[in-house]
Amino acid sequence: MENNKRRRFLKLGLAGAALSFIDPFKASKLIASTENRLTSSPVVISTWNHGIAANKAAWEVLSNGGNALDAVESGVRVTEADVSNRSVGIGGMPDRSGHVTLDACIMDENSNCGSVGCLEGIEHPISVARAVMEKTQHVMLVGDGAKQFALDQGFQKIKTPIPEVKAEYQKWKKENKDLFKKPEINHENHDTIGMLALDANGNLSGACTTSGWAYKLPGRLGDSPIIGAGLFVDNEVGAACATGLGEAIIRIAGSHTVVELMRQGYTPQEACKMAVERIISKHKDLTNLQCCFLALDKNGNVGSFSVYNGFNYAYTSADKEALIDAPFDRNW
Ligand code: ASP
Repeated sequence: MENNKRRRFLKLGLAGAALSFIDPFKASKLIASTENRLTSSPVVISTWNHGIAANKAAWEVLSNGGNALDAVESGVRVTEADVSNRSVGIGGMPDRSGHVTLDACIMDENSNCGSVGCLEGIEHPISVARAVMEKTQHVMLVGDGAKQFALDQGFQKIKTPIPEVKAEYQKWKKENKDLFKKPEINHENHDTIGMLALDANGNLSGACTTSGWAYKLPGRLGDSPIIGAGLFVDNEVGAACATGLGEAIIRIAGSHTVVELMRQGYTPQEACKMAVERIISKHKDLTNLQCCFLALDKNGNVGSFSVYNGFNYAYTSADKEALIDAPFDRNW
């Protein structure tokens, strides 16, 4: 520990000395990023503005010396419990047959991971995903099997869709007679919560939970329950999560790609941008194809990027709480 502190101090000292020879404007930016890189203070980031409330719960854990895994689980549970949220948890939008099916995954600093897909009638899919990770030999449980596992673990059954969602679904069904037509991108999807945290011990974890693409075909899984697509954590390097059109994110193993780019030395920001560029290069038609990445490296640096404008994320550390607009490739 003492040695680590000394090494950090030495690094900062050397960086400071080097900076005295360069342009002051560039130097101030470099000092900021150098300080950021060398901090071991906890940080939590999460997708969209529902991340603000979720970060508060996660920060409660982190600021009291708790670990990143507990922080991300507590954080996204806030969003899952908010039944007014139409894209996460049991208040989320249903599939084409009126069933609200939920997807979630979680990953810790030891590369342990757990995931559930197409889980119906359970309030906290993220905690079921954690139970899959901690109590079984498996990584992923889906559908009825996931539900039975949750019930066996003592999770309560909840009747879905809740009345407000049912009413919206009935209206949608009237206007959409052909239940098997292709779902409408960006009108009929949106807004997973993906959360990444670094704790005071320098360990990373991540969580991701969603009701997925609204009015999806029954049985559809997006990126969110898929380790490597909607979420990936490698404690030696960093963590990344995604939101947006899951099919496009899966196609490039999005979150894993972002982490591997960080391993090659790219900053979280550069890595997110490169992953978005890869999605762009793999799709001829980008109409309504919104995909967004969020990344946090081992040293607390963060980055984000999206195909189109409109994506934002919540950031919380000891000295800053903010909702930040992500940079993007093109205007909507
Ligand atoms: N990625 C989610 C999915 O495809 C949806 C979203 O984040 O907008 O299910």
